[in-house]
Amino acid sequence: MSRSLKDGEVDELKSHADIYGIVSGYVNLKKSGKNYSGLCPFHKEKTPSFSVDPTKQLYHCFGCGEGGDVISFVEKMENLDFLEAVEFIAGKVGYKLKYNMTGSSREAGKARKRLFEINDLAKKYFQFILYNSKAGKAPIDYLKNRGFTLETIKSFEVGYCMDLWDNFTGFIKKRGYKDREVIDSGLAIESTKKPGTIYDRFRGRIMFPIEDIVGKPIGFGGRILNEKSNTARQSAKYVNTPETRLFSKSKNIYNINQAKNSIVNLDQVFIVEGYTDVMALHQAGVKNAVASLGTALTSDQVKILGRFTKNIILVFDSDQAGMNASLKVIERLREYNERLDLYFDSNLNIKVAVLEKGYDPAEFILKRGKESFLARVKKAQNIIDFTIDIILGKYDINDLSGKLKASDDLIRFISTLSSSIIQEECIKKIAGKLDLKENLLFEELQKKKEDPADSKDYWNKDDAGKEKSTDNEKILPLKKVEIEALKLMVNGPGPRLDDFLELGPSFFRFDDTRELYKALRSEIGEAGKNNKKINFPIKITSGALENTETKKLYNYILFSELYYGRDDIDRACKEILNNLKKVHLSDEIDYVRKKMLEYEGAKRDSSDKDKDKLDRKYDSLYQRLIKLEREKLDLGYNK
Ligand SMILES: [Zn+2]
Repeated sequence: MSRSLKDGEVDELKSHADIYGIVSGYVNLKKSGKNYSGLCPFHKEKTPSFSVDPTKQLYHCFGCGEGGDVISFVEKMENLDFLEAVEFIAGKVGYKLKYNMTGSSREAGKARKRLFEINDLAKKYFQFILYNSKAGKAPIDYLKNRGFTLETIKSFEVGYCMDLWDNFTGFIKKRGYKDREVIDSGLAIESTKKPGTIYDRFRGRIMFPIEDIVGKPIGFGGRILNEKSNTARQSAKYVNTPETRLFSKSKNIYNINQAKNSIVNLDQVFIVEGYTDVMALHQAGVKNAVASLGTALTSDQVKILGRFTKNIILVFDSDQAGMNASLKVIERLREYNERLDLYFDSNLNIKVAVLEKGYDPAEFILKRGKESFLARVKKAQNIIDFTIDIILGKYDINDLSGKLKASDDLIRFISTLSSSIIQEECIKKIAGKLDLKENLLFEELQKKKEDPADSKDYWNKDDAGKEKSTDNEKILPLKKVEIEALKLMVNGPGPRLDDFLELGPSFFRFDDTRELYKALRSEIGEAGKNNKKINFPIKITSGALENTETKKLYNYILFSELYYGRDDIDRACKEILNNLKKVHLSDEIDYVRKKMLEYEGAKRDSSDKDKDKLDRKYDSLYQRLIKLEREKLDLGYNK
């Protein structure tokens, strides 16, 4: 539900919220002249350069340059967006904000407020049961046995709900809330057997309250205490509040409000699976941990986390990431990898850390401590590398047939990813790991894409609903550039023809594009030798093309239109030539880098005499690398 403030409300709020009063809640301010000064909360400093001007109601730091009004201060301190910061300040100073509301949105606003109240009362009630009833003893013992201190249990406001059908509903109805409201809060369910009556959704469960980003209670996660209890039979180990007006498991993140400041300070967030994992990390001093409430992160959750940090580490326990690549981890990674586009758009850096065998994150940190946890997550691997390794782990790649099977499996995985940039990146990595040629793998990928039946089942996902892509869209971007180049050659690139001829076949990385390039070049060469004028589009003598794929490509080029007007051709030529050169240079750079690493490795176990020789080779490679990098840079600039 989108809300907007009435005109003038922000100014009205600012007149109620003195900047000195708000800022002094975070910074120790001392009077200096007509202003106040203190140590800047936005950068590290030893002498105060942070200043608050109460007459202008502004703050400014002479050290780092941060500055603004009370709202921007709270936005930054609490990592909130504008409206959230306004509401936060209003809450602090007790100002009642006025919203633009139609009759129905006013009703909705009121209903929302009642739902917050129900959740808040529930939270307090469940805590009361945990600490003050006989029934609370078993859950407390359970939590203590798992290693939690009373302080942690209290700080996460954990509670317990009775193993009865109407205990909570009875309590909340006595407080004046209607059946409908309790159902809408997600805490009660309407009976199908006895319509008109409601019963408790959560029974005999340890209750973990879930808060929104500013700390308001919006729902619960409940863990069953005794699987054999009367009311728990046939129900899941964990039950969450269903989707309500306040709670959505795809939009909310467990512990985000408590963790957000640490996430910003450490510029990193750990995503774990369970509520107790978050609690355990917190207890051990790792405060930048949250749990996603579904199986994988959603785009909304990514957006929220992206406000605090770009560095996300998924913490898997070893059972999930077992060496036999259990179904669960593959399933989990599928969800993540399918969203890679989304992550790349938000410039996120996602890594996966795996804990030692036999531990879940909670056990691991409570038994082994913060330092060994941090050492472990330091080894976290980029999610693409991790997925590739998991798949590789299924095969013996020292044996040729294992290698082929692994590459087939990997290419099927890659063909399910939607971004061609990521596909290219994966292919490069696989080529390195399996010691196979990149263009071979690209061709395989191309085949898989042309035969969707082959790749469709990789993740057992249902592709039936997806539209079939047109031929043109199926072509890799890299290949597209090569085809554009060939199109220009066939149709006449004007004065740039020589530049194309100079490139050479190695600039074309696919069998069919390379063969066509060679054929065009020899056709043009023949014409030149015989002093004949070249007629565009170039007609290739029939029979000169052997490969059916190449013939298809040539026909495709003859039939397709050149997009460029006469005036644009030169610019297009230049751009395409640049792109081809860049790819070629990148390949050479990769090759030189790899060679350099080999020499470095060889140097370690060789005699001094050999070392000199290797050093010289290394140096000359290094010179070449610098030259190539410079060339590549130059290409980038003269676009
Ligand atoms: Zn500063």
